[in-house]
Amino acid sequence: MNNDQLWQAVLGELELNISKANFTTWFKNTFIGSQEGEQVVVATPNAFTKTWLEKKYSDQILKALKNITNEAIRKVSFIVQAGKPVSARQPIDAVTPRVEKSSESVELNKFGLNKKYTFENFIIGKGNELASAAARAVTQRLGEVYNPLFIYGGVGLGKTHLVQAVGNELLKTNPKLRILYITSEKFTNDYVQSIKTGQTENFKRAYRNVDVLLVDDIHFMSGKEQTQEEFFHTFNALHQNNKQIVLSSDRPPKAIPDIEQRLVSRFEWGMTADIGAPDFETRIAILEAKCQEKGYNLDAEVIEYLAENVQNNVRELEGALNRIIGYHDLNKSTPNLESTKQVLQALTSSSARTNLTPKKIIQIVSSYFDISIDNLIGSCRRKEMVVPRQIVMYLMREEINSSYPSIGQELGGRDHTTAIHACNKIGLVMEKDEKIKNDIGIIKQRLYQG
Ligand code: ADP
Ligand code: MG
Repeated sequence: MNNDQLWQAVLGELELNISKANFTTWFKNTFIGSQEGEQVVVATPNAFTKTWLEKKYSDQILKALKNITNEAIRKVSFIVQAGKPVSARQPIDAVTPRVEKSSESVELNKFGLNKKYTFENFIIGKGNELASAAARAVTQRLGEVYNPLFIYGGVGLGKTHLVQAVGNELLKTNPKLRILYITSEKFTNDYVQSIKTGQTENFKRAYRNVDVLLVDDIHFMSGKEQTQEEFFHTFNALHQNNKQIVLSSDRPPKAIPDIEQRLVSRFEWGMTADIGAPDFETRIAILEAKCQEKGYNLDAEVIEYLAENVQNNVRELEGALNRIIGYHDLNKSTPNLESTKQVLQALTSSSARTNLTPKKIIQIVSSYFDISIDNLIGSCRRKEMVVPRQIVMYLMREEINSSYPSIGQELGGRDHTTAIHACNKIGLVMEKDEKIKNDIGIIKQRLYQG
């Protein structure tokens, strides 16, 4: 077992005993820095996380290490080391259905549903009104009104929450319904596995014998032809029998690259609803609701400060709140504006922002629009290339404050006036064009996803 595999195994074990929010907050971007004899050195993205892991989790980590290596490890220590190796990445947010495990913090039931995601605790605001109303409508008239319901939007905006809420709500009123929540990644893996083991018939039966199929992150099927073909048949079988299908994706059906046209058109058969970033009032309402849930009191000025400074998505907002609470619990103090600013500063100056480079922006924009880097920085003047190219320039300016001449340089030696023009243009377009605004929102989130 190499260090990466060992750490994945440790995380797998820890995840069972730690709430999802804590797990994501504290273990994101950690990896094994080195292993010497009986000692394992765990690398953490910043000093704050390091202290926290030392104080709160070192025993659990050591125990998991011992379990997995059969006692070979006797000591664990922590260092700050930003920038984890690519191979150590782990999709911490991917929810894979597990059949009930004994630990209290594992909340997924046999349908793949986590009971903490409900309509009751979903705050409705401008960005998600339509999607949440549609999701509710689905639960009231199953298979009849919007089939499929297709929800799309950037990371951390509540797609999984809504899709899961549909399942949880239905179970409340009709416990006999056969509901299945699954990520499209799991669908893909299960399908591949069923081919390997000659069990495709079982696979088909399992997926086609449900009343409600909830498939999260369908964009993951991009480029996976066989899986798409199989999903096409699953979809048809269910739809013909008026079984409800709910899908989520990080972008609208048409914008998913490498996906069969016949699937795109089916995804558009019912209702497509987008989720956008929450506005200021919604962010406040979400923070207040989360504090109430936790029975934690925060001053209005602290809540406002958080809502003003963490704008991208709800997951980050929750993460910031957890850090504030965690930090002050640890120090047995009460959050005030000053201390909140400090904690938040530590958060934003941590690895992600400083690791952002022009190259990374180019890479992420190129994969988002599914065009090659050569084309992106090349001289082709087709609109499909020009707009993404301008977005790259805009992001270099906005996110890492690159100078105009250096932006031109990064983009194949263009003149600085081209860069100025591009940045102005995208700035203006953003005000009018919802689609581009949405695209840029998603790209920004990807830039900071570690
Ligand atoms: P996505 O699937 O779009 O990436 P999630 O559904 O996982 O996002 O949401 C991220 C976190 O934010 C979850 O913990 C979720 O409960 C919370 N969340 C998102 N939107 C809302 C909302 N409107 N009200 C309350 N919590 C929300
Ligand atoms: Mg999700």
